[in-house]
Amino acid sequence: MRTQVGIIGAGPAGLLLAQLLAVRGIDSVVLENHSRDYVQARIRAGILEQGTTDALRDAGLGARLDREGLVHDGLRLTFDGEQHRLDLRALTGRAVTIYGQTEVVKDLIAARLDSGAPLHFEVDDVRVDVATPAVRYRHEGVEHELRCDAIAGCDGFHGVCRAAIPEAEVTTWERAYPFAWLGILADVAPSTDELIYARHERGFALHSMRSRERSRLYVQVDPGDDVARWPDARVWEELHARLASDGFALAEGPVLEKSITPMRSFVAAPLRHGPLFLAGDAAHIVPPTGAKGLNLAMADVLVLADALIDGSPAALDAYSDRCLRRVWRAQHFSWWMTGMLHVDPAGDAYDRELARSQLRYVTRSRAAATSLAENYVGYDR
Ligand SMILES: Cc1cc2nc3c(=O)[nH]c(=O)nc-3n(C[C@H](O)[C@H](O)[C@H](O)COP(=O)(O)OP(=O)(O)OC[C@H]3O[C@@H](n4cnc5c(N)ncnc54)[C@H](O)[C@@H]3O)c2cc1C
Repeated sequence: MRTQVGIIGAGPAGLLLAQLLAVRGIDSVVLENHSRDYVQARIRAGILEQGTTDALRDAGLGARLDREGLVHDGLRLTFDGEQHRLDLRALTGRAVTIYGQTEVVKDLIAARLDSGAPLHFEVDDVRVDVATPAVRYRHEGVEHELRCDAIAGCDGFHGVCRAAIPEAEVTTWERAYPFAWLGILADVAPSTDELIYARHERGFALHSMRSRERSRLYVQVDPGDDVARWPDARVWEELHARLASDGFALAEGPVLEKSITPMRSFVAAPLRHGPLFLAGDAAHIVPPTGAKGLNLAMADVLVLADALIDGSPAALDAYSDRCLRRVWRAQHFSWWMTGMLHVDPAGDAYDRELARSQLRYVTRSRAAATSLAENYVGYDR
């Protein structure tokens, strides 16, 4: 088998890349090791920057997004029992859209399958050969070799593509955090019309949503914690305590899903090794506090699609550096938001006062608020 671009991973990065290339007449084959049902049900991110929604629309995927996505012009910060609003649109001219990663992935898979272009689920034993270049894999018990001009490693943090680059040719940076997020999906209308990020002495909490009917809520927990130790009543009790502010009432509902997500910052560079191009979580991850992971993955493949369509050595060479500028801005913003909003169990009173001072600053200074807002809606220069 032969194709122009072999794409490993049918997450948001791999699927959007396939769509962008197809629109411009470039052939690709997408290989995914999980089933379609599994990929479509994986609950993860849900906040799309304007650059991401524009890209989805340009790729012909705007219909359901425009019908069901919730445009948010602002966000709320709660600390010391008070809620403050940051007007993202007034500060930056831009907004964000709430539309679950599950929905983005469903739309992208439907578009790919409708077009008849190859997308194979449940492939096994994917191996990357950068010398040939080729991707070898097993599907339905049969061995395959896919020869390609370029290989897009869109296989997430635990994929095989990053590991295919010799260790000596890649530099990594990493930061672990002493906390994780316990998230629930609740069958209840959101108690707020915009996201609430809260810092409380008991830890961080976030009130987010997936639709007008479904709420997504998080509390900071220990990274070694276990969901079994968090019955629904305990989760709601913490949410009530941490999100409390004058005039805010949290509505409870049946919990449909509950999971713990560890937090890590990671970058591997460069994003290119010969014909292999890493994109999205395969190359970098951020703690979810800045809502950047999905948006960075989409931003990478927008640059990659342009480079592959251009095809010149200069365009392909520029891919890694162009992405890394944005990646490092998002790394800093995600690290900074995480530090400001979480309570470090090893921290002391001095750390707590610094975080409170920073929160007062971003809610009282227009310059500080603009900086937060500019990063939150997506900064790419
Ligand atoms: C539990 C969790 C919660 C998150 N919550 C948030 C959030 O609230 N906000 C936010 O902004 N971000 C969040 N993120 C991050 C965000 O979801 C990711 O940044 C985003 O999914 C990156 O997209 P991607 O396509 O690069 O990688 P992925 O979505 O990981 O997709 C990679 C795909 O490759 C497949 N794959 C892996 N290995 C192979 C292989 N060997 N062969 C073939 N296929 C393979 C995987 O099955 C997967 O489908 C979360 C991530 C996780 C893990």
